[in-house]
Amino acid sequence: MKAAAFDYVRPRNVAAAVDLLAADKGQAQLLAGGQSLLPLLNLRLASPARLIDISRLPELAMTDEDDATVTLGAGVTHAMIEDRRVPDPSQGLMPHVALGLAYRAVRNRGTLGGSLALADPAAEWPAVLAALEAEIGVVGPNGRRRLSGTNFATGIYATRLAEDEIVTALRIPKLSRAARWGYAKLARKAGAFADALAVAVADPRRGYGRVVLGAANGPPLVMTEAGRALAGTRRDPEQLRRAVETDLDSAADRRFDAYQRRLHRAAAMRAIVQVIQ
Ligand SMILES: Cc1cc2nc3c(=O)[nH]c(=O)nc-3n(C[C@H](O)[C@H](O)[C@H](O)COP(=O)(O)OP(=O)(O)OC[C@H]3O[C@@H](n4cnc5c(N)ncnc54)[C@H](O)[C@@H]3O)c2cc1C
Repeated sequence: MKAAAFDYVRPRNVAAAVDLLAADKGQAQLLAGGQSLLPLLNLRLASPARLIDISRLPELAMTDEDDATVTLGAGVTHAMIEDRRVPDPSQGLMPHVALGLAYRAVRNRGTLGGSLALADPAAEWPAVLAALEAEIGVVGPNGRRRLSGTNFATGIYATRLAEDEIVTALRIPKLSRAARWGYAKLARKAGAFADALAVAVADPRRGYGRVVLGAANGPPLVMTEAGRALAGTRRDPEQLRRAVETDLDSAADRRFDAYQRRLHRAAAMRAIVQVIQ
C-alpha cells in the first residue's frame, strides 16, 4: 500500500515547527527519522494532512555536557549513540543498547525523540532513559517544560506529551566511574523488537539503584524493590531474586501470563547479575 496524499513542510527552526503544529490542530504530524511513521503512513494506520519535517533541524541535533549531565538533542540518531559520536553519560550502557536496536539502516535515521514520542512498549530508549533518570525537555505554544523520563510514557503508544508539543532534548545524569550496569534484551532474532528487556543500574557514589523492565504490556516498569536492593551495600543474589518476584507480583495490572513472567524474571535477573558480578 501507499500513503494517502499529504502536504509536506520543512520549517527552519523549532519555533516555526511549534507554530505549524499548533496551527494544524491535530491534522499534522512531525516527521523525524521516519522509521516508525513512514510504515504507519504506508499501511494507512496514520493519515495526517501534513507532515512537518524536523529531521534536519540543527537545534535538535545539539549535544551538551557539564560535570553532572549530558544533554542530547531529540534528533540524535541511534547510530550516533552506537558510534559514540555524541557524549555518553552512561559508562557504555547507551552505545551497547543502540548496537542491538533494530538494524543499522534503521539506526542511521531513527532518533531518540521519535522513539520516546512514539512510546512503543517494546522500545529500548524509554526503559533505558527511565533507568538513568533522564529528564525530557519539550516545547509547545505555551513554552518549554521538563518532564521526568521515568513516567513520560503513560501507556502503550501514550505519553505526557501534548498534541502540539515537540520533544527537544534529553538531559541525562552522568553515571560515575564506579557505576555498574546490566542489560538484557530477549528477542526472537537479532534486531527484532524485544519480548522482554531489563536495564539494571547501580551507582554507589550516588547510592543509586534502579531496575526497569521494557516490553512490559505498558510503559516501562520500574521495579522498586529490586532497585532498592541493588542500591544497598550488601547485595545478596537471593534477596535480589525475592525482590524481583515481589515487583512482578505488584505488577498485576500488567497481566503477564506465565510465559511473559518467566521472560521478565529471566531478563531482570540477567541484568542484575551483570551488575553484582
Ligand atoms: C524494521 C524496524 C525494526 C525496529 N526495531 C526496533 C527495536 O528493536 N527497538 C526500538 O526501540 N525501535 C525499533 N524500531 C523503531 C525505530 O527505533 C524508530 O526509529 C523509532 O521508534 C522512531 O524514531 P523516528 O525518529 O524514526 O521517528 P518517526 O518515525 O519519524 O516518528 C515516530 C512518531 O514520533 C513523533 N515524533 C518524532 N520526533 C518527535 C519529536 N522530537 N517530538 C515529538 N514527536 C516526535 C512522530 O510524529 C511520530 O508520531 C524499528 C523500526 C523498524 C522499521
